[in-house]
Parts: sequence; structure tokens; C-alpha cells
Amino acid sequence: MNIEENIRKFQQRLAGTHCKLVAVSKTQPTDALQQAYDAGQRIFGENKAQEMAQKAAVLPQDIEWHMLGHLQTNKVKSIAPFVHTIQSVDSLRLLEEINKQAEKNNRTINGLLQIYIAQEETKFGLSIIEARELLESPTFPTLHNVKITGVMGIATNTDSEGQLQREFKFLKNTFTSFKETYFSNSPEFKEISMGMSSDFELAIAEGSTMIRVGSSIFGARNYLV
Ligand SMILES: *Cc1c(COP(=O)(O)O)cnc(C)c1O
Repeated sequence: MNIEENIRKFQQRLAGTHCKLVAVSKTQPTDALQQAYDAGQRIFGENKAQEMAQKAAVLPQDIEWHMLGHLQTNKVKSIAPFVHTIQSVDSLRLLEEINKQAEKNNRTINGLLQIYIAQEETKFGLSIIEARELLESPTFPTLHNVKITGVMGIATNTDSEGQLQREFKFLKNTFTSFKETYFSNSPEFKEISMGMSSDFELAIAEGSTMIRVGSSIFGARNYLV
């Protein structure tokens, strides 16, 4: 894998679109991230708080760190000083904790509502009803140190283009509906994070503004290390 070359290919693919690349660097060593950085990549996604904090401590300060994995409330503290966006907001309780830790650090943390779009039982995320409950709760407007900037979804792990397309369309429609109902005066609510190595072209076609790509940049992950 030539990481720099892979980053350049994605830069070319996304040039002139409204879609950004999140380089998903979980399990990858810091020198792999540095290579991507040297090719111009600035947004990195991780799925574990501790791993992200360790990498952030030794890599350049201008990296935009995105949390993609399910986050336990007791882990928020360790990434609150630097994390840019938590893409895996899946409860009001988590959002309250993010707000509390952001406030302690005198900053604002962005969040994406993770919406359940897959036909798989293992995936985390909010149903539409749960997301509406969160947005309509009296607590939500009091959370001044978090900014909800859009939605995120993880599609089913399938080869069926039809199914992927339906799931991406569903997320896009959810975004549009939330935008109209809750965020019509919030220009910062603009992100639809969907699409990974195997399905990013479909996701872009359905309106993705953020693709999350790991193995197509860094190669296969080795979970045994
Ligand atoms: C690992 C991961 C990705 C990247 O997957 P690839 O298939 O390696 O591109 C994207 N999104 C989330 C939430 C992930 O956990």
C-alpha cells in the first residue's frame, strides 16, 4: 500500500465535490497516519478513545480528530481537550457528558447523530423516533458546548447495491427532515457522513458529505497486534 498515493487518488476523486474524506486510521501505527498527513490529509477517524488520545499526543496539532466508534460516557473526558467531532452520538446521556467535558475545556465539540440505518442487529445508533426524542428534549437546547452538525450512518455489510442505496437514501431523507424541523436556522447542520471503502461511490451519489475510508487508504487492518 502506498498511503500517499491513495490519499492523492481520493483528493482527485473528491475535488470539486462537497464531500470530505475522513481517513479511518484505527489500528494503524502513527507513521501510517503521518504518511497520510504528509500527503495533505487532515481529518482522521478512530473508534477507540484511548488509541485516539495516544495518537493525538504525538501527531501534528492541526489534525481534525473524529470519533467514529461507540463511546462510553466515562471515556469522553480523555478526548474532550482535542476531539473535533464525535460522529457516534447515540444518546442524550452521552451528549450531556460531551457538553460537560467540552465546557470544562472551554471549547465546543461537534457531534453527528448516529442514525440506525442497517439491517443488522449489532450496529449502534438511534432510531428516528429516538433521535427526535433527543432533539425535542428540554435538555437539548441547554447544551451550549456541543454543536450537532449532521448525521452519520453505517450501512449493512452487503454486496447488494440496491440495499445500500436504500439505506443511504434513508439517511439523506432523515437529514433533510431534521434540517427542516429542527435546524432550519442552523447552517452548521450540513453533514451526512456515509460511505466506506467498499461503498463510497454509492454514498457520494446519494449525497454523502463525508466518506469514512480505512482499508482503501491504509490496507487491511491487523487486529492481532
Ligand atoms: C472502520 C470504519 C470505517 C472504515 O471502514 P473501511 O471498510 O476500512 O473503509 C468507516 N466507518 C466506521 C464507523 C468504521 O468503524
